Amino acid sequence: MKKWNLIIDIGKCHDCNNCFLACKDEFFENDFPPHSSAQPRHGHRWMNILRHERGQFPKVDVSYLPLPCMHCDDADCIKAAKDDAIYKREDGIVIIDPVKAKGQRGLVDSCPYGVIWWNETLDLPQKCTFCTHLLDEGWARPRCVQACPTGAMQFLSAEDSGMVQLIESEKLEIWHPEYGLQPRVYYKNLYRFSRCFIAGSIALKDVNECAEGAIVTLKDASDKVPDTGKTNNFGDFKFDGLEEKSGEHHLTIEYPGYPTQELQVDLEVSVDLGTIFL
Ligand code: SF4
Ligand code: SF4
Repeated sequence: MKKWNLIIDIGKCHDCNNCFLACKDEFFENDFPPHSSAQPRHGHRWMNILRHERGQFPKVDVSYLPLPCMHCDDADCIKAAKDDAIYKREDGIVIIDPVKAKGQRGLVDSCPYGVIWWNETLDLPQKCTFCTHLLDEGWARPRCVQACPTGAMQFLSAEDSGMVQLIESEKLEIWHPEYGLQPRVYYKNLYRFSRCFIAGSIALKDVNECAEGAIVTLKDASDKVPDTGKTNNFGDFKFDGLEEKSGEHHLTIEYPGYPTQELQVDLEVSVDLGTIFL
């Protein structure tokens, strides 16, 4: 049986919030029984955009993680709901029943992703429905996906076996796998949000030039094969996708005609080592 999946490319999201606005436009003042009641004008972000800054000036980058309900296959919210107030449809979508969930404020805290919002006026927990009411009318994608100008989001109906292949070929990841909830939202380029980098520049002091083509090798404390790269024409290098707080790393810098330099980095978060003179 095919089920709905959402793939979000962190590398293509530039925080325009069109997806958030499309969601607000669809659900503000609009009831879609039996799937959802109207979203309030303020407070709720059923499609939330998280922001994360890495590095230090001048080597800084910012990435954005659009965060809807993950429509988990093993959802904590479903287990926490009384009277089957939250349920999973055959197509994979998780729905909060707007009648049965009335008054169940504790459901807001049942989701470790923090994507259930409390509607004070309606006395109701609410969240993203993947625009179920539109899909049931034949739409191929929810409003947020339709509104994204960069194509950062892809919505597809697929067999779980097909998704396994796609996850492998597209290097997709899930956000917070340690929660163990089997989400149906996958991220591409997640490393830009969840991991860190070591960057720097190499320069030749005696001739006051950038060291283009210097060979930089990074090794961590494990026996893993070291990562090697060459500096660009500005003498810059960058190793990305490293685990935060992963401890001692050893950097070797080689350039023909100059003594090899060795550096130790105790990696906590993304770091710019500045200019290293040979
Ligand atoms: S992300 Fe949270 S609200 Fe959505 S299905 Fe998973 S546990 Fe439930
Ligand atoms: S509409 Fe697309 S680019 Fe804009 S914030 Fe949403 S996911 Fe990012």
